[in-house]
Amino acid sequence: MRIVMKFGGTAINSPEKIIHVANIIKSQKKKADTQIVCVVSAIRGMTDGILSISAAIKKGDKVFIADFLREARENHLHLVQEAIKDSKLQTEAREAITTLLDELEDILDGIVLLAEVTAKSLDYLMSFGERLSAPIISFALRDKGVSSEYLTGKEAGILTDSNFGEARPLMDTTKLRLEHKLEPLLEKDIVPIITGFIGADQNGNVTTIGRGGSDYTATIIGAAIEADEVWFWSDVNGLMTADPKIVDDATVIKEVSFSEAMEMALFGAKYMHPRALEPVMDTKIPIRIRNTFNLAHKGTIISQNPTKASHKIVKSISTIRHTALIDVSGGGMVGALGTAAKIFDALAKNRVNIMMISQSPSEASISMVVRKGDLDKAAITLEMNLLKKVINHVNINDDVAVIAVVGSGMRGIKGVAARVFNAVATQNVNVIMIAQGSSQLNLAFVVNDIDCDQAVRALHHEFGLANVR
Ligand code: ASP
Ligand code: MG
Repeated sequence: MRIVMKFGGTAINSPEKIIHVANIIKSQKKKADTQIVCVVSAIRGMTDGILSISAAIKKGDKVFIADFLREARENHLHLVQEAIKDSKLQTEAREAITTLLDELEDILDGIVLLAEVTAKSLDYLMSFGERLSAPIISFALRDKGVSSEYLTGKEAGILTDSNFGEARPLMDTTKLRLEHKLEPLLEKDIVPIITGFIGADQNGNVTTIGRGGSDYTATIIGAAIEADEVWFWSDVNGLMTADPKIVDDATVIKEVSFSEAMEMALFGAKYMHPRALEPVMDTKIPIRIRNTFNLAHKGTIISQNPTKASHKIVKSISTIRHTALIDVSGGGMVGALGTAAKIFDALAKNRVNIMMISQSPSEASISMVVRKGDLDKAAITLEMNLLKKVINHVNINDDVAVIAVVGSGMRGIKGVAARVFNAVATQNVNVIMIAQGSSQLNLAFVVNDIDCDQAVRALHHEFGLANVR
C-alpha cells in the first residue's frame, strides 16, 4: 500500500500536535508493506504572516518586519525544542531552521530597501512557510525512529510555469522527476516529507501553486508515484452536508464522487484546493479526508464510483457568503452581437473573476456574481469602458450569498428544482438569480446574504441530509 498524506497547517502548529502527527505516520508505516510520502503545509498563520510583511515592505515598516521575524523564529524554535527529544536530532533541526530563518532575514533586509515586492519575490518569501515546517516534521519522525528526509517541492521535482502565485504544474515532466526522486527513497524505506504549495519554474525560480495548494501538491505526487490513496489530514472530520455553523445537525458525508467533491471544493474552498482533484481524477486514486484529532472517525472518501449505498439525490448544501451581484442592463443589448464578450473581456483584463453568470433570454440584462473584494474594480471597469456605450445601467447588490445544491443524483431527476425553490419560498426568502450547469450536478442560486442561513436550513431539512451516514 502506498499512501500520500498531507498535513494542513492546523495539524502541526504546536509541539504536541507535531508529536501526534509523527505518531500517526509511524503507526501507519508499521502496517505491512506500507510506503508513505508526506506533504506538509506551513504552520498555521505563517503564510498569512508572510503576506502581511509584504505589505510592510512596501511601506518600509522595518519594525513590523523585525517583529514578524522574531516571532517566526521563536515559534519554530519552540516547536523544535519541544517536539524533538533526542539532543543530536534536536541540534540538527535547530541548525536547519536557523539557517532558513537567517536567509529569510537577509532577503527581507534587502527587499525592504527596494520597498517593492514582485510576484516572483513574493513566491520566494511565501516558500519559507513550508520550508520551515517540513524539516521539523521530518526530524520529529526521525526522533520516533522512522527514517525520513525532507525536500522542497522544487527538490522533489515539481516543475511549473512562471505564473507566480498561481503557477500551473507541468505534469509530464513533473511526474518523471518526482518518480525519479521519490522511488529510491521509498525503496530504502525512507518517509519523504515534502513541502506543499511550492514548485519551481524552468529557470529554477521558486513558484507557488495557489493558496491552500498543499492539497494540490499531495495529489500531484499521488498521481506521479501511483499511490493507492491520498489522505488529507486536517482538523475536520470530512466534507459536511452543510456548514455546521449554519445547520446544527449537519453531518459528515461518507462518500462522494470526484465530480461532486469538485463542486463542493469550488464552494467551500476551505476544505480543499479547487484544482487538487484534477491529478487524481485522471488516475482514479481515491482521496480520504481525515481528522488528526479524531482518529476513530473514518472521514470522507472521494472516489470515482462511490458505492450504491451512498447514492442520494442531493449530498450537500454549499454556500459562498458575502459576495456581490452586478446586474448590467440596457435595451441596446438586445440582439447586439458580442455584448457579453465585451463585458467579460473588460472584466477579465482588469483581473475580475466572475463566479456565476446568468442572462435572460430577452438579452436585456446580464447578472454576474463577483467576490466583494473585486466589486470596486468591477464597477469601475464597467463604468469606464462600457456604460452608455454597450450597457445603460449597472445595478449592484453588495451583500448576497450563493447557495449551491450539489449531488450527482439530481441528474435527470424531475422535480428537484421545484423542491429546492419551494423549500426556500416557504421561508419567505427571495431568490435573486439562478444558474444550473447542464451537468446537473449543481443547482446554484443567489439570495440576500441575510436570508442565507434560513434558506440553507430549509434545504438541508427538505433533502433529509441530517440522516446521511
Ligand atoms: N501554506 C499555504 C497556504 O496557507 C498552502 C497550504 O496551506 O495548503 O495557502
Ligand atoms: Mg489548507
